[in-house]
Amino acid sequence: MKRILITGAAGFLGSHLCDKFIAEGYRVVGMDNLITGDLKNINHLFKNENFEFYHHDVSKFVHVAGQLDYILHFASPASPIDYLKIPIQTLKVGSLGTHNLLGLAKEKNARILIASTSEVYGDPLVHPQTEEYYGNVNTIGPRGVYDEAKRFQESITMAYHRFHGLETRIVRIFNTYGPRMRLNDGRVIPAFIGQALRGEDLTVFGEGDQTRSFCYVDDQVDGIYKLLLSDYAEPVNIGNPHEITIKDFAEEIIKLTGTDQKIIYKPLPKDDPMQRQPDISRAKEILGWEPKVNRAEGMKITYDYFKSLTDEELRKSEH
Ligand code: NAD
Ligand code: UDP
Repeated sequence: MKRILITGAAGFLGSHLCDKFIAEGYRVVGMDNLITGDLKNINHLFKNENFEFYHHDVSKFVHVAGQLDYILHFASPASPIDYLKIPIQTLKVGSLGTHNLLGLAKEKNARILIASTSEVYGDPLVHPQTEEYYGNVNTIGPRGVYDEAKRFQESITMAYHRFHGLETRIVRIFNTYGPRMRLNDGRVIPAFIGQALRGEDLTVFGEGDQTRSFCYVDDQVDGIYKLLLSDYAEPVNIGNPHEITIKDFAEEIIKLTGTDQKIIYKPLPKDDPMQRQPDISRAKEILGWEPKVNRAEGMKITYDYFKSLTDEELRKSEH
């Protein structure tokens, strides 16, 4: 059996990846310091003999005994309010954490895939974003702690690939959603659904004419799985190209949830990208991957998940 280390295992994407690799017959080692994640996302795996978990901060030296065939480095705060609250840890896990995991991959002769992001394109001047675009990031802005950590992460990963011949993969993840997102992580989908469920008005930032393109988690996990098993070392965008303005999206959520709340407008956060849409030609060509779940289907499943939370969990998510 192949053995895989997944960092960020108790988070949104990490926990779905644990499920996927267990289902595909791997032995999974999860690692997380629970700074933004929650053990409830992986509780169901603890009874599985092919799952182990280590509570550890990967920005500190990482040791795992025994064979490792693959590493997925997904540990990092991922939502703007998280990384603005813990900026130094965000920089450290993208830089020191990545360095530690590359070192571990080298020692174990394992293939490593690192979770990069569409944020490496910053507030993009090229639309849709292709992997060739170098991006437009404000290094010293508040979002710079995340964007630059991820850009450094890509650079050090390519250096290990070129200098040490390490087998590396880089996925540039575009906005992904689904069950197990944290209701209070501030990202737009949990924010709007939480507001609708609590009977609050939906807070659109700016005029709401900025765009995003939302990918359902099962599609994202499938793309990451295919990329890991491919022989392609350059970055690959994985996301759903179906783009929508945030204002239209708020209206879609009002319809989906049947709430009679209104939209209210709040100031646009600094450096909030005005447009974002992945060009997925590379993923199609190299991985034969494209998303299958449309927004209506994915949002219905996600809404049902949030609706199933207890009142106490819902109240906890108020800011
Ligand atoms: P998340 O916050 O749900 O999960 C991140 C996990 O990493 C959490 O469980 C957290 O406790 C853990 N973690 C953070 N710092 C750690 C450290 N130093 N040591 C050990 N564990 C640590 O976020 P997510 O949405 O699941 O994102 C996972 C990864 O995917 C991140 O690297 C993120 O940058 C990337 N990504 C996600 C999206 C998205 O739309 N969800 C988009 C682009 C990139
Ligand atoms: N957004 C919003 N209201 C909210 C939360 C977010 O209008 O309550 C906007 C935010 O300004 C951004 C978009 O929704 O333009 C997506 O935000 P999110 O934090 O989900 O992700 P990111 O900006 O990292 O793509």
